[in-house]
Amino acid sequence: MLKGKTALVTGSTSGIGLAVAKSLAQQGANIVLNGFGDASAPRAEVEALGVRAEYHGADMSKPEQIDDMMKFAASKFGRVDILVNNAGIQHVAKVEDFPTERWDAIIAINLSSAFHTTRLAIPAMREANWGRVINIASAHGLVASAQKSAYVAAKHGVVGLTKAVALETATTGVTVNAICPGWVLTALVQKQIDDRAAREGITAAQAQNDLLGEKQPSLQFTTVEQLGGLAVFLCSPAADQVRGVAWAMDGGWTAQ
Ligand code: NAD
Repeated sequence: MLKGKTALVTGSTSGIGLAVAKSLAQQGANIVLNGFGDASAPRAEVEALGVRAEYHGADMSKPEQIDDMMKFAASKFGRVDILVNNAGIQHVAKVEDFPTERWDAIIAINLSSAFHTTRLAIPAMREANWGRVINIASAHGLVASAQKSAYVAAKHGVVGLTKAVALETATTGVTVNAICPGWVLTALVQKQIDDRAAREGITAAQAQNDLLGEKQPSLQFTTVEQLGGLAVFLCSPAADQVRGVAWAMDGGWTAQ
């Protein structure tokens, strides 16, 4: 379905981003990977699906590096057809204790980076009259939790950005949507489980059950493969009129 298209996925060296990249590659899209750490294994996993994969290590908190990554993608593949804004970090603390540099980093990586990639990707998508921007927001883009002020603010911001750009592109073949996962068992959440277990003197398994029980009525994690499937759907012709949506995949979290 996506043969000949190019997808750039930020923060795709692990977790949700890598799974979304692989789901799009399974549909034939060439992939530009981004993120920290050694990219050789993720790149090999994507290439094993029979597509081309390139990697750019731009730090999503640095607008000039984002600019360089977008130019790199265009030089390798002509243009970016599918942009997945996925890179994200978390920090958990009460607002009065929140380190200001953590606030700035979360806003830069989780929100402002999506502005920069989007503003740089949209012109070529408009020209081709086809494009997909998929923003990986969160249940925290729709509702809040205590001790996550920066993350909740950034993710609500991502949902707002999604709606505004969807309106600006509404008469074109470019669609802009957000995916709002609930708990997904990745490195980002494993850290919260481990911190909770240490803080409360309980096992990691208990901390995991408590975490799900508090928020996610299904009591099951959303999987990265399910999120990849939703991204593929948003790239399909069936989704041509899905515009400005914040699509929860959260085991019922935000239905409460
Ligand atoms: P993860 O930690 O496994 O992956 C994060 C990715 O972002 C990694 O590839 C990392 O290298 C990259 N990254 C971090 N800082 C970066 C920077 N400054 N520049 C470039 N890349 C950077 O986490 P994940 O759970 O896969 O999270 C992916 C996205 O999904 C995030 O936006 C997160 O907020 C969102 N999300 C996750 C969950 C969950 O339960 N795991 C739920 C809702 C939303």
